[in-house]
Amino acid sequence: MSAATVYRATILNPQGPERMAVYADGALRVREGRIEAVGAFDALSPPRAGDTLVELDGVLVPGFYDVHIHWVQHRVRGRFAAELMPWLREYIWPEEARYGDAGFAAAAARTFFADTVRAGTVAGLCYSSPHPEAVRVAVAAAQGDWLIGDAVMPEYAPAELRAASIHTVDELDPLARELGPARYAITPRFALNCPAPLLAALGAYAQAHGHFVQTHLSESPQEIREVAAAFPEAEDYTDVYDRAGLLGPRSVLGHCIHLAPREWRVLAARGCRVAHCPSSNEALDSGRMPLERVREHGVHWALASDVGAGPSHAMLHVMQRFLAQHRAAGVPVTGVEALYRATLAGAECMGRAAQGGNFEPDKRADFVLLPRPGGTPDAEGWLADWTRGTQLELESRPLGTCLAGQWRAVG
Ligand SMILES: [Zn+2]
Repeated sequence: MSAATVYRATILNPQGPERMAVYADGALRVREGRIEAVGAFDALSPPRAGDTLVELDGVLVPGFYDVHIHWVQHRVRGRFAAELMPWLREYIWPEEARYGDAGFAAAAARTFFADTVRAGTVAGLCYSSPHPEAVRVAVAAAQGDWLIGDAVMPEYAPAELRAASIHTVDELDPLARELGPARYAITPRFALNCPAPLLAALGAYAQAHGHFVQTHLSESPQEIREVAAAFPEAEDYTDVYDRAGLLGPRSVLGHCIHLAPREWRVLAARGCRVAHCPSSNEALDSGRMPLERVREHGVHWALASDVGAGPSHAMLHVMQRFLAQHRAAGVPVTGVEALYRATLAGAECMGRAAQGGNFEPDKRADFVLLPRPGGTPDAEGWLADWTRGTQLELESRPLGTCLAGQWRAVG
């Protein structure tokens, strides 16, 4: 059996929205990229001959999951000047059109994954441009555990992007088969981009082959009015997707800000997951996702950056905006919950909780080293400290990231 590496540091291990294990002097034993044991350093069985002890000065938390990010918008993130629709037309569509060039896409993918790993993100659910080839490029360049899909958008976009999109499920099938349901997510961009028959075909395909589905739901009032006009047969926006068979436990819906009570009940009944994107919602002035409704209906959710509407890919920045936004509305939230929603809850949304999201034996050894704040060990106080600061400070706060046992300090 190969030798193990024992990482000694303070360890925070999220267990749920209100539970987190803390080991002031903790250890993580890693063998062949997987966690073998976690706990207090003294309680772990003594290192065996040949094992390597790595003493890290800082605090280990699980690697971050970002369950809604547009990798093809990374270069233009944070350029918001208006609300959803004008922003798409002015900044996003022209940028995404460039990803038809595979060389351009490959260089952009290298930058994207280097930046996300640097900020501590080890996995995610990701939108690509409509070009199927850009998905292959991203999957080939990916660092960490990513599910990626080409934005299906044969309607309601500039001609160049509509032409690049798949128009039928037959066109999607080769890429979906090549990458499989562990890498490829069915990605109707949002309701207005697809006619009802295509949405239904995508829903049937996802169900038949076990693919995850990602799409946007109820982000802006103007979008909701346009969806109502385009789909007069549907009861509401959620019903557009429900009729198409796109809602289930493998469906991750971005935003969900302006839903009616009936829609929340449907999402709960279908077991859907919500990607909550507070920094994006602030940037586009889309409103606050009603966290109190989500809790009331017991809908599972995780945090996400929604880059490029979200100005930063750093999940510490997303956690900061999550805490600030709901506290300003008088809704109780804690740092412990923020960390859980940026790690294990994301793995649960992606069906990966058996493989990652926190520190448990047999899970992948993915972690982030954060600086140790002063004072006595206090998880809530530390989380407040780590989520304080400017966007740039938050992006560069991690001291290193470990991906499947490969530890990389920031040099
Ligand atoms: Zn989005």
